[in-house]
Amino acid sequence: MSRPFRSTRVVLCVALLLVVAGAASAQAPVSYRLTFPAPEHHWMQVEATFPDAGRTPLHVYMSRTSPGRYALHEFAKNVYDVQAFDGAGQPLAAVHSQPYEWDVQSGDGTVKVSYRVYGDRVDGTYLAVDTTHAHINMPAALMWAGGLDMRPIRVEFVPPAGSHWKVATQLHPTADPFVFTAGNLQYLMDSPAEFGTFLLRTFTEGGRTFRIALHEQGTAAEADAFAADVHKIVRQEGAVYGEFPDYEPGTYTFLSDYLPWADFDGMEHRNSTVMTFRGSLGNPEQRIEILNTVAHEFFHCWNVERIRPAGLEPFSFLHLNMASSLWLAEGFTSYYQTVFMQRAGLATMADTAQAYERVVNAVTNGSGRQVRTAEQMSQMAPYIDGGQPIDRTNWSRTVISYYTWGDAIGLALDLSLRERSNGRLTLDDFMRAMWRKYGKPGGPAEGLVGHPYTIDEARETLGEVAGDPAFANEFFRRYIQGHDVPDYRTLLSAAGLIVRPIHPGRAWIGNVRLDFSGDGADVDALTPYGSPVYEAGIDEDDTILSIDGRKMTSERALASVLAAHKPGDRVPVMFVHRDGQKVSATIALAADPRLEIVPVEKTGKTLTAAEQAFRESWLGPKH
Ligand SMILES: [Zn+2]
Repeated sequence: MSRPFRSTRVVLCVALLLVVAGAASAQAPVSYRLTFPAPEHHWMQVEATFPDAGRTPLHVYMSRTSPGRYALHEFAKNVYDVQAFDGAGQPLAAVHSQPYEWDVQSGDGTVKVSYRVYGDRVDGTYLAVDTTHAHINMPAALMWAGGLDMRPIRVEFVPPAGSHWKVATQLHPTADPFVFTAGNLQYLMDSPAEFGTFLLRTFTEGGRTFRIALHEQGTAAEADAFAADVHKIVRQEGAVYGEFPDYEPGTYTFLSDYLPWADFDGMEHRNSTVMTFRGSLGNPEQRIEILNTVAHEFFHCWNVERIRPAGLEPFSFLHLNMASSLWLAEGFTSYYQTVFMQRAGLATMADTAQAYERVVNAVTNGSGRQVRTAEQMSQMAPYIDGGQPIDRTNWSRTVISYYTWGDAIGLALDLSLRERSNGRLTLDDFMRAMWRKYGKPGGPAEGLVGHPYTIDEARETLGEVAGDPAFANEFFRRYIQGHDVPDYRTLLSAAGLIVRPIHPGRAWIGNVRLDFSGDGADVDALTPYGSPVYEAGIDEDDTILSIDGRKMTSERALASVLAAHKPGDRVPVMFVHRDGQKVSATIALAADPRLEIVPVEKTGKTLTAAEQAFRESWLGPKH
């Protein structure tokens, strides 16, 4: 099988790539024409033309992956009615040689491929065509040819008859409002398009122009208010780096689809993001969720798109990429999302404390931490980003999301830097240093990053920023490449946030999902490593008959047994395995480890001036 992106992968020499790009740009562009003969039936007609195809047969592919996603998707599954022609329109044989590949014997050097592609999922990964729009993620829609990946590209969007559709995309505009270009395949595939009747809102900040293409069923006033809040977030994020990237098409675009038939998603790209949500800006709770997605995705225009983890670059459309630093790429982005909501005045201290309570609990008490490190969780992305597989997995007890764990690491690192420097250094300084070293210098061609960072380079940069390589080495060794958890109680106390058990002194059998509708307590999910139930030999599909002689027929029965005991007590337990085997064992009750994070002023004590100042410097607006 031909693996065109493997050949790109070895061409890491900048000079050589420039030569390749320079030579390619003299060649005729690859072109696509997209038409929508029946949008109500959710399919798009694609005509792709590959001039000067060169070698024969030409290997034509549908992608198996999508930038921003980490698992396989096999987009060819929605493609049908594939036909190939030469430059004169004579039919050519197209052999469907792999699930995602067609091989076309070219006659006169030009290969034209036409096909239909079905799509009805509004999110950041797939294709959606309906009577209101075509919402196009390029890997889910466009075939490409091996060996032509540095060719310039032209895309023509043909509106359905009688429609008023227009295009929003990070592709480069031309004089024709329906024709756009890309410098190469990487940039094309990174450039989703919303083709429909959206509202457009524009603002400028820091010398850059930002556009919001809003496909929603709400009012113009809601769109205006949304744009104002997006602007606040953009301003706060720019303040971390002190500048915005050079957006290649001259603008950054938020492609926003908030519709009753959309799925939730947020997908980052170099100069745009796709944000979808089943709901509307008119609903206050949904609006906050939507703004959280804005805060997350926009930060990616630095962190991931330009400050790019090694392993994701160059992105392969046929094979899975794997990165060991998604705890930084995704996790720190999630950490900052919470920070920005507060800095932009869109969240309260209580909201922020609750967000940190969730991640601190997930990492402190998640049993996955015993068997995998944050770095190893990152390496799980190709498996877990594809959703739940057909076979059973034990991820509920062996995996903590790299978003969540990285969020908690970002929190600990920010607070540690502030604490050890008396507020002089922060995580913002680290991100700015990463930007200057790895992001800002750019790449050999648009859509490519010249120097993706390794995990060792991230550690060295932290050492430089902190002025203390030993601190950086220790932090990475314990919390990123090891299994330790930072001391959140001490770290958060500087900001007047109290970390304490939710149920102090309460006996606990473990985080276990029980269904009391049968003869006993059916265990409905895996029991976590090291929990009292796990140590007693109990697991998924078992039924707990009694604890301490009390029949387990209700939640209340369990609660009364626990109330009668204290942590450390050993009590008898009877349970039955799924094969009918009855077991009598002992369960050692533990102390409920779940934590809450509460602003000190909510606990009857006073917020000190020092705590107030720490909070202000950390979560106050930056101008
Ligand atoms: Zn993300």
